[in-house]
Amino acid sequence: MPRRLHSTLSTLVQWFDADYQPEGADAVRNAPDKVDWLRCIPFIVLHLGCLGVIWTGASAFAVWTAVALYFMRMATVTGVYHRYFSHKTYTTSRPMQFVLALCGGTTVQRGPLWWAYHHRHHHQHSDGPEDAHSPHVHGFLWSHIGWITSRRNFPTDYSKVRDLDKFPELVFLNRFDAVVPVLFALGIFGLGSFLGAHAPGLHTNGWQLLVWGFFISTTALFHGTSCINSMAHLMGRRRYKTEDDSRNSFILAIVTLGEGWHNNHHRYQSSTRNGFYWWEIDITYYLLKTLSWTGLIWGLKAVPASVLEEGERSDHHDSVLAASRAQHVHPEYSSLKRIVPAAAAIAVATVNATHPVVPRRAESHEISRDPSSLSEAPLHDRGP
Ligand SMILES: [Zn+2]
Ligand SMILES: [Zn+2]
Repeated sequence: MPRRLHSTLSTLVQWFDADYQPEGADAVRNAPDKVDWLRCIPFIVLHLGCLGVIWTGASAFAVWTAVALYFMRMATVTGVYHRYFSHKTYTTSRPMQFVLALCGGTTVQRGPLWWAYHHRHHHQHSDGPEDAHSPHVHGFLWSHIGWITSRRNFPTDYSKVRDLDKFPELVFLNRFDAVVPVLFALGIFGLGSFLGAHAPGLHTNGWQLLVWGFFISTTALFHGTSCINSMAHLMGRRRYKTEDDSRNSFILAIVTLGEGWHNNHHRYQSSTRNGFYWWEIDITYYLLKTLSWTGLIWGLKAVPASVLEEGERSDHHDSVLAASRAQHVHPEYSSLKRIVPAAAAIAVATVNATHPVVPRRAESHEISRDPSSLSEAPLHDRGP
């Protein structure tokens, strides 16, 4: 069989079987970055599906369904894929773990082990040359969307998720990662068709609900989540002098239900909460805390007092420094910086993409990139 045809057929199989790697997963992962357009067709269709709104129009019910599914699934990305599968910040039973993985599949962000592997890799190499999605190394666009289309980033490295790949049910969901999304989309279409026939007052139908509830909501969910890979390393304050350039941002914390406290999280990955204080809104944490009262999950991990004290010292130091600098800052520059912080950050990242920034070194030996902090002794969570 000609090599090109073989490669095309392999890619089509990979649409359904993510672990099908005839060349070997290691060889693919070690290849240079290259967009795999054929492999990305479903991802492109996801975006193009939003244009279906031209034909289906909108209804209040469909729009609110899209909004509700965005936030429900954002909570799943953050509370399940991130804070459970990637960092094990709480404990649950095996059946509940499977239910969480099924919920994770509805986010259409590939399988739980793929997600956890890539995320742990990010923490280990954040803003270094090996980081798959650093805006400082690869530029804003690649960190936001490019990296996920790269051929080398498709295979899961199971050796990095040994705590998860011992569960065959999770490996199944990870390998056949299109199953749950397809069933989810069919479910939404079915619901819309049912309501179209039995609740005409809602003015919706199968196609309209599919466009809003699946295509628009899922595309927005992808970009909302991606803001953490791109913007959360550009926009906001750095309380902790971590080795990377992670930042804390209130705006991103709202968009992502708590993930915007990314600098806190890079400093201490094992905590269930990313917002370390009551004023650092972290909706995902509140939901997980509520879920823990049902007994379905338990063992939520808190932030150690030493990490909080370190942050308070840093905050104090920064505010003293800012007060002394304020007397010398040109007022026009100051207001410009307030108005367009995001635009300035993107511009800086784009420039830096060709001249990678040398990551800042940690000032404290306690700061670790090692995802084995998963095994750190759990601390009691005393609540908000
Ligand atoms: Zn990060
Ligand atoms: Zn993380």
